[in-house]
Amino acid sequence: MSKVYMQDGRLVVPDCVTIPFIEGDGVGAEITPVCQKIVNRAVELAYGGKRSIEWMEVLAGGKAFEKTGEWLPEATMDAFREYLVGIKGPLTTPVGGGIRSLNVALRQTLDLYVCLRPVRWFKGVVSPIKEPQKVDMHIFRENTEDIYAGIEWEQGTPEAKKFYAFLRDEMGVTKVRFPETSSFGVKPVSVEGTQRLVRAAILYALEHKLPSVTLVHKGNIMKFTEGGFKRWGYELAETEFAGKTFTMNQYDKIKKELGEESAKAAMAEAINKGQVIIKDCIADAFLQNTLLIPEEYSVIATLNLNGDYVSDQLAAMVGGIGIAPGANINYLSGHAIFEATHGTAPNIAGKNIVNPCSLLLSSVMMLEYLGWKEAGQLITNALEQAFAAGEATNDLARFMPNGNALGTAEFGDRVIDYL
Ligand code: NAD
Repeated sequence: MSKVYMQDGRLVVPDCVTIPFIEGDGVGAEITPVCQKIVNRAVELAYGGKRSIEWMEVLAGGKAFEKTGEWLPEATMDAFREYLVGIKGPLTTPVGGGIRSLNVALRQTLDLYVCLRPVRWFKGVVSPIKEPQKVDMHIFRENTEDIYAGIEWEQGTPEAKKFYAFLRDEMGVTKVRFPETSSFGVKPVSVEGTQRLVRAAILYALEHKLPSVTLVHKGNIMKFTEGGFKRWGYELAETEFAGKTFTMNQYDKIKKELGEESAKAAMAEAINKGQVIIKDCIADAFLQNTLLIPEEYSVIATLNLNGDYVSDQLAAMVGGIGIAPGANINYLSGHAIFEATHGTAPNIAGKNIVNPCSLLLSSVMMLEYLGWKEAGQLITNALEQAFAAGEATNDLARFMPNGNALGTAEFGDRVIDYL
């Protein structure tokens, strides 16, 4: 068994690498083997047999509960801790007490602070927008803070009453409209949490030669939390990435001092030099703009809740959840879990019709993360050819003029043909 490890801040990947995987509940049993078969073949073709993946199954979700009586066994956490990079199918959310969500538990335990969702359109896939070819965005959603931190108290409980009493008596808060029947939630947003996320987004833009990073926020209303996110993001760009970025703050300053023409000239020069433009946009306007002017946006850095909404809207613009990949990453420790972004789809499980592309494109992200870009590219090229020929699973094929709906396994085999 060969492990990925970190050395001097870089990932070291052995040629035969062990990857822990969670098969996933529901449709997981159908998409996981199909994806592994495609990935194995792509790696073999790309590196002439010199590189390979040894898949190591670890348990979570319904399958784990059946076999061990636990939803998320410690052995699974240990495997992800030890092997750094893993992949997972969708998991049933346990009903009743204990763990709220297995996905959240994995993210929190490994401090996977970036949720990365690349969004691109494949020719042939039907989209609700007119020019889907203009969509090429990379969402960096903060994964550990914000109103999602899970700090909340239900209305009517002693905790909610105590919390309100603290707000009223100690903090002088008079703005709670219906204090007796309010539930309360807390929204922590920190300098470190913001900056490690924005840093990852800027480094990604630099590495992939992408033109801009947009900080998406509601700082106009939530001045200290979301406004802080914007301010700290700009500060980081201007200090840590001076000379490599050009921010809208800098633009505004030049405009004020020297006029608009000078500001425009400075920005044009920055673009010429390959500097990344750092801008910001208020979340509601951003959602509108993604539909109207998607070409204006490349890398997106945003808080947890905004990121949740943004990810689903953008996924819908390029073909929906069946094809949207994702990963949860800690770039400092190297830990990363790549995942299908959809759920267990119980309504179609066992029917050989589920689309494996979300997990497959997440596998492509994993190959890129491991530095095995050539293998990832082969899979992307194969998918481009399949979709252009109208070959897809039913969820996509039914909308294609030349659509030819294939079963999950048959689609997987077609992708292998195209490799
Ligand atoms: P879902 O994503 O499973 O399904 C929503 C709809 O999309 C269904 O009609 C389904 O058939 C369809 N769909 C989903 N993935 C598809 C694919 N790859 N190809 C074709 N069609 C696809 O959401 P849900 O029904 O709300 O949730 C079912 C279960 O999954 C719940 O237990 C939920 O908690 C869990 N869930 C898990 C994750 C995860 O593990 N990341 C994410 C969301 C939901």
